Amino acid sequence: SKDAGGGVFHAYEPQLHLAAEERRVLEIALRNAVGNDEMHLQYQPVVDADSGKLTGFEALLRWTHPELGPVSPAKFVPLAEDARLIGPIGEWVLRAAIAEAARWETPVRVAVNVSPEQLHNPNFVSVVAQALNQSGLPPERLELEVTEGVFMRQGTVAVQVLEKILDLGIRLSLDDFGTGYSSLGYLSRTRFSSIKVDRSFVQAASRGAKEAIAIIRAVVALADSLGMATTAEGVETEEEHLMVRRLGCTKVQGYYFGRPLPAHEAHALTVPKTSA
Ligand code: C2E
Ligand code: CA
Ligand code: CA
Ligand code: CA
Repeated sequence: SKDAGGGVFHAYEPQLHLAAEERRVLEIALRNAVGNDEMHLQYQPVVDADSGKLTGFEALLRWTHPELGPVSPAKFVPLAEDARLIGPIGEWVLRAAIAEAARWETPVRVAVNVSPEQLHNPNFVSVVAQALNQSGLPPERLELEVTEGVFMRQGTVAVQVLEKILDLGIRLSLDDFGTGYSSLGYLSRTRFSSIKVDRSFVQAASRGAKEAIAIIRAVVALADSLGMATTAEGVETEEEHLMVRRLGCTKVQGYYFGRPLPAHEAHALTVPKTSA
């Protein structure tokens, strides 16, 4: 155990061996996960904070390993990024999410997570454009979610790619805002449609943490003045919904409004209700 060495980690520590071995196994399996049809997407509702109306879904990647079962994206996405596998996997995600959204019965948006490395692929913009063309999904119904990490390394490349994405009429949102190493400069250079307030702030604020409440207020004021919406993530209770709405968040997402759903269940939510 970790305590055996007086709190010090050793290279030969059994747990670390297991972690390294698990990493290796997962990385090898990840190479063929798309080809072996082991990946699928779920869709989590995003809702207007005031009206409660559905505005769209965030596509979330799921991987079921044939022996290990479901592996969390919090575990395999960083691994795929390190192993330079996020490019092809992310391309599959984009095509699948865009094709699915084109089949929805009301024109709600689909949000797709994009890793920083994907923006360094010179084909990225044309892959997105082609997927939109093939599916017939209007560009304004696609939203790409990027994190502050995009601006950290080779920031100018990212800004140029995002500029081309915006030129296509696609929307951008800034994910996990405030959790990374941020300089606010890029906010004035890139036209984001919305800023997503990370669940950690929502949770802390609902526990009454004054700092978290102040941060959400400040993010809302900043977004407002830049003409951007704010989406509160990880809203799990009615109380949290009322709180983030009072703080001015315009959209909400979280288990209170719906868990990530299989494609057919998300589709069913887009069917217009007939009068009873
Ligand atoms: P994220 O983009 O911040 O996505 C939101 C995460 O919060 C999702 O976890 C979602 O299931 C979870 N969540 C939503 N509402 C609640 C709530 O009320 N309570 C709690 N406790 N959790 C909630 P998930 O699906 O496990 O994804 C984790 C992360 O993996 C995502 O965080 C995103 O960074 C990454 N990811 C997922 N799919 C993709 C993808 O297709 N491409 C890339 N590059 N990354 C992805
Ligand atoms: Ca996201
Ligand atoms: Ca997020
Ligand atoms: Ca997150």
